[in-house]
Amino acid sequence: MATTFLAARIFDGDETTIEDGFITIDDGKITAMGKKSDLGSGASSATDLGDATILPGLINMHTHMTFSADHDVLDNALNDTHEMKMVRAIENLRKAIRSGVTTVRDCGAPNEVAFALRTASENGVIEAPHVWAAGQVLTSTGGHCYYIGVEVDSVEDIKKAVRNQVKAGADFIKVMATGGGLTPNTFPENAQFSEQELVALADDSRRLNRKIAAHCHGTPGIRNAIAAEVTTIEHCSFMTPNGVEYEEDVAHGVADKGIYVCPTLSTGERARQAAMEAGIELPARWANMRERRTDNLRRLSDLGVQFVSGNDAGVTLTRFDDFQLDLEMLVEYIGYSNEKAIATATSVAAKAIGTEEYGTLAEGKRADVLAVNGNALHDIGALRDIQFVMKSGDIVVDYR
Ligand SMILES: [Zn+2]
Repeated sequence: MATTFLAARIFDGDETTIEDGFITIDDGKITAMGKKSDLGSGASSATDLGDATILPGLINMHTHMTFSADHDVLDNALNDTHEMKMVRAIENLRKAIRSGVTTVRDCGAPNEVAFALRTASENGVIEAPHVWAAGQVLTSTGGHCYYIGVEVDSVEDIKKAVRNQVKAGADFIKVMATGGGLTPNTFPENAQFSEQELVALADDSRRLNRKIAAHCHGTPGIRNAIAAEVTTIEHCSFMTPNGVEYEEDVAHGVADKGIYVCPTLSTGERARQAAMEAGIELPARWANMRERRTDNLRRLSDLGVQFVSGNDAGVTLTRFDDFQLDLEMLVEYIGYSNEKAIATATSVAAKAIGTEEYGTLAEGKRADVLAVNGNALHDIGALRDIQFVMKSGDIVVDYR
């Protein structure tokens, strides 16, 4: 049966806002949208949400479903039993959908957990967003996130691992192109693979019709990712042994190849706030690094690089029900309009995933819909004041 909602505004996730609009959902899909005045007598049977904003369900482009989001995230990842990882993942996904996220792009979790929960979500066994999952990451031996990875050290290893991941059910391929902060004895500023290795990884992924997400803190890793023409660069921190240093030619490379950047802007922000509240003084270098990072992101954006939002949910104090912080920080620190910030988690995110099925509100799209109180196009904070979350046409979370 078709259901129609009225709201003071409907934002399609791209560029269009309908004031005093309606949206009709039937059989899991959006079947009509427009001005309330075009509904005629049909408006009387519609559900009026009042001074609300209807928009696409949010896509969190960077999560780790089995991580604890605790201070002990590494210890937990190393020592949790398999069953405990599964329990954490179910709970994390539940938090995500209850906060308005209708799709997570999971950037690294054990295959058996990620792919099983993707199925469980689609079958309605658990309350969860749609899952678009990499499963295990590709990393070097002992490299970043080896504990949720396949360790590979040569072109041959890499090809085998890409093929095995696709065979196991990977929706896309995630590679750790540099070291990372979470893994001891890895170095964020250094590349973990040669250019030749990363190109081989990307070529084989493309051959199997899979997009490629490359974790890159260090600039050498970003250079390799550009050569490999990956789909998304995660973090894109421009780290060097001397700290964060923007490099113009590298930034142009990212822009010219049309590579999306997922800046994971809010990662660690709650940890920073908690430290400040506890009166722990942060190292000046750290504060400075954050400033320079946001500065670099502004420059990337000015070059036309398209951002997608993901908060690296699961890492230290970075929660699955706090994804809105990423959008709030895009507005506050990068100067994005609310529409543009929301697009990084809806229409642009869908483009980076490579889907036309969802990510915007339009006739024929899967009905992943978020309704919030107030005007989210004026007040980004309104995204936290949820009326309901709809997944594939079903209201799965209702706060009304
Ligand atoms: Zn990550």
